[in-house]
Formats: sequence, C-alpha cells, structure tokens
Amino acid sequence: MDDELWLFRHNVRRFIREEFVPCQARWREQHAPDPDAWLKAGEAGILLPDLPEEFGAGGTYAHEAVVIEELARARVHFGSNVHSIVAHYILSYGTPEQKMRWLPRMNTGELVGAIAMTEPSAGSDLAAIRTTARRKGDRYIINGSKTFITNGLRAGLVCVAVKTDTSVAGARGISMILCETRGLGGFRTGSSFEKVGRGAQDTCEMFFDDVAIPAENLLGGKEGRGFGQMLERLPYERLSIGVASVATIETAVEITTRYVKERIAFGKPLIDLQSVRFKLAECSTEAHIARVFVDSCIQRQIAGTLDPATAAMAKYWLTEREFQIVDD
Ligand SMILES: Cc1cc2nc3c(=O)[nH]c(=O)nc-3n(C[C@H](O)[C@H](O)[C@H](O)COP(=O)(O)OP(=O)(O)OC[C@H]3O[C@@H](n4cnc5c(N)ncnc54)[C@H](O)[C@@H]3O)c2cc1C
Repeated sequence: MDDELWLFRHNVRRFIREEFVPCQARWREQHAPDPDAWLKAGEAGILLPDLPEEFGAGGTYAHEAVVIEELARARVHFGSNVHSIVAHYILSYGTPEQKMRWLPRMNTGELVGAIAMTEPSAGSDLAAIRTTARRKGDRYIINGSKTFITNGLRAGLVCVAVKTDTSVAGARGISMILCETRGLGGFRTGSSFEKVGRGAQDTCEMFFDDVAIPAENLLGGKEGRGFGQMLERLPYERLSIGVASVATIETAVEITTRYVKERIAFGKPLIDLQSVRFKLAECSTEAHIARVFVDSCIQRQIAGTLDPATAAMAKYWLTEREFQIVDD
C-alpha cells in the first residue's frame, strides 16, 4: 500500500457503501446485480483497475486487489473480477483491433464480460468440452451449452471455450471465441441459479444453437490456442479468489472481536472468558499468516513472477482457512 492506493481504497469503499450495499437485498432476490450497477462501477473507475491507461485505469494488480478486498469486506457479490479476467484474456492474446473494439467499452461497464468454459459434463476436466465452432466462410457456427457462468445474465461479451477442431482429441483443437450477445441469434441463457453463496451474483447456463460469430472474433486470430491460454490465465483467477478470502477472514475476526467485547454473558464480556480469547488468538494468527502469504503473492503478480503452483496454493489454502475461520 502507498498513499495513492489508500486514496483509491477510500474511494472504492465509499462507492460500494453508498451504491452497492443498500441494493444487496434486491440483488439477492433477483439473483443478479441491477443492470445499471455496471455503468455506475465504470463511472466510479472501479472496473479494469489494472489495465493500461489506454484501456483501463492504468494501475497495477494492487488496485485490482483493493477492489476485490473492498467488495469482500462489504460482503457485496459483484463479478468485477471475472470481468477483469476476460479483459486480461483480450489484453494478453487479442489482436490490436480486438483490444480497441472491446476493452474501452468494458472499461465503462457498457459491455459486461463473462468467461464460459465449464459445461454440464466438463468441469475440472476442461479438455473434455463438447461445444463446437465450425468455420463456415467468414463465420464460426457455435453449438453446445455452458453452465455455472458468472455474470451470465448481464454479459454483453462472452469469452467462450470451443472445439474448433473436433478431429483431434483432448486439449488440442480448443480455441477461445468472443461473442457479443446483444441480439445474437440462437443464443440464450437460463435463469440465474439459486446458490449456497454469492446469492446476489448472476450465475447461469448458456445455450448456443447455430450461433454465427464473425471469424475475426477468434481470440488472437489463430485456432487451437485456447487450452494454453486458459492455463496461462489461471494464476490470475486463483490469486483473486485468495485475495477475497483473506479480506473475508480479516472481516470475520474484526466483527467477532467487536462482538465478544460487547456481549455480556455470566456477568462479564465474552472476551473475558479464556476459551474465547484462545479461539480469537488462533484465528488472528492465521489471519496474519494469510495476509503475509497473499501480500507476497500480490507482489509477485505485480512483478510478473507468480508461478501457477503458488497461485494454486493460495486458492487452496486461503479458501480452506476462510471457511474454517468463519465457522470458528
Ligand atoms: C459460483 C460458481 C461460479 C462459477 N463461475 C464460472 C464461470 O464464470 N465460468 C466457468 O467456465 N465456470 C464457472 N464455474 C464452474 C467451475 O469452474 C466448476 O465448478 C469447476 O471447474 C468444477 O467443475 P464441476 O463443478 O463440473 O465439477 P468437476 O470438477 O467436474 O467434478 C465433479 C465431481 O468429480 C470429482 N472430481 C473431479 N476431479 C477429480 C479428481 N481428479 N479426483 C477425484 N474426484 C474428482 C469432484 O470432487 C466432483 O464430485 C463456477 C462455479 C461456481 C460454483
């Protein structure tokens, strides 16, 4: 953190408190944020904070982490990190024309991003996807379905993992194609799922029935690179999940500390009971370790040295700690 990041955090926190927190009950009920929430977020400068200035806010991953943390602290479910993931696919692999076409509109919130990899019969085993995109003249014809897609209802731009070459098995022959969904014939979404968590966020199925997409929407312009692209982008996604977990852990410890100081039982505040202090000390210790670990990952992400194994450790360990500490 430095002065500029603290100021950014202050503005993000205020925006979330004023614009998003009061809407949470409605968002949860409709299983999706209000459509104009994205434009408001764009106007407030909290979308794509770590993209270069010509496309985003010109910050680093530290800015992205601040947004993720503040959303988690306020317990607001808003898929801006998935939006960022899609933008980074375009930034990393897109042609100059693709970047100019989509990133500025994603930055303002006019175009909401989603990434569609998972299928009803292909989750962790991503190489088993069955959605196809067959080249026909200057178009791809997409057929298949996807599930669990975050931002699915609101998405105007979906980065879809497809098989462009069905003659080769497994990971080979997979490509990423960007679909602009507005008025797109043959494309539809299911209703937003009722989930155990993240109730205010839209997560849904997507169906592609002879959907025609201009061939120039193939990410990077070359077929067969999709699986490698997905693997390369996973550390970013995994780290962001870890960042949210640490913010939730710290918030849980803060809320509980406040509560045990206020709550009187057996004639004194709960904090005076040694068993309560023991448990809080354990949780605070792990919160501290989690913070040091995630900060080191953030620094490595900014330096471009975060390796896939460490990012996987962050997602695994920090989410496990999150659930355990919240339960405790
Ligand atoms: C809230 C939420 C949001 C999501 N958002 C998106 C999104 O935006 N875009 C997207 O593409 N996907 C998204 N997903 C999907 C997510 O990526 C998948 O859930 C994940 O890849 C796992 O796939 P699966 O749920 O089909 O389970 P699978 O991984 O297919 O597992 C099925 C079963 O097999 C078991 N299993 C799997 N592998 C092994 C193994 N090696 N050994 C033993 N058992 C195993 C599992 O434990 C499970 O019981 C989201 C999911 C959730 C819950």
